[in-house]
Amino acid sequence: MIEVVGLTKVFGVGSPSPTTVLDDVDFTVDAGEIFAVVGPSGAGKSTLARCLNLLERPTSGKVVVNGEDLTALGTSGLRDARRRIGTVFQSASLLSRRTAAQNVALPLEYLGATQRSTASRVGELLDLVGLADKADLYPHQLSGGQRQRVGIARALALKPSVLLSDEATSGLDPAATDTFLRLLTDVRDELDLAVVFITHEMDTIVRVADTVGRLDHGRIVEHGRLEQLVLEP
Ligand code: ADP
Ligand code: ADP
Repeated sequence: MIEVVGLTKVFGVGSPSPTTVLDDVDFTVDAGEIFAVVGPSGAGKSTLARCLNLLERPTSGKVVVNGEDLTALGTSGLRDARRRIGTVFQSASLLSRRTAAQNVALPLEYLGATQRSTASRVGELLDLVGLADKADLYPHQLSGGQRQRVGIARALALKPSVLLSDEATSGLDPAATDTFLRLLTDVRDELDLAVVFITHEMDTIVRVADTVGRLDHGRIVEHGRLEQLVLEP
């Protein structure tokens, strides 16, 4: 599970005009739950994503995964901490000179896994996302939806307990979006993941979210089970 407590990000601390981009954001996502963060452009979604996967240090507040406060870790602990949260980015951000299999293998290589264990793990992961037959294709030979599925496989390579999806369906056509959302709920169920699904697309969240937080000007202004919320576009 992931617990976000009082997460605040201020850019330009100490400057004449500091900007508070995240303001005391709190939420908890249990294993097996999909929490959607929805909000318009400028609401603070990318900054939240970057604070959650530790690419950005919050000004204050905590990101706690399975009881451990990741924001309290020093640089050496960060590498380990990043393994707990897998991220699927907008437009997958795969390396173009690497095949699907080689992209999925990246996190395992960084970790120094043996070739044999990497190959078997990559095989498992490509199976999981239904792309076993595309292992040797390069990103440009895959559809946008297939690239996003490779992104999911890569995000899961190190067996994280949290999956962060950052605008991952933006730019996908409706059919590819459907496949992506179905896969997301499948892996959530199969691997008992806590999923943070960040998007500006209202119509996607009603299809996957258990709970929803509406982010506006850096604050969660509405928070609850999907069926309790009245979401306005
Ligand atoms: P979203 O992803 O919801 O569009 P962002 O997190 O990208 O929102 O941005 C939220 C606000 O924070 C915007 O007003 C943006 O201009 C501001 N912002 C983002 N990054 C920085 C930064 N490095 N310095 C100052 N302001 C920033
Ligand atoms: P092991 O650690 O021996 O692989 P697990 O019980 O952790 O056994 O996993 C059972 C199956 O699910 C294995 O095939 C494993 O690779 C896969 N699996 C477990 N956790 C994850 C995860 N977070 N992402 C992807 N696959 C996973």
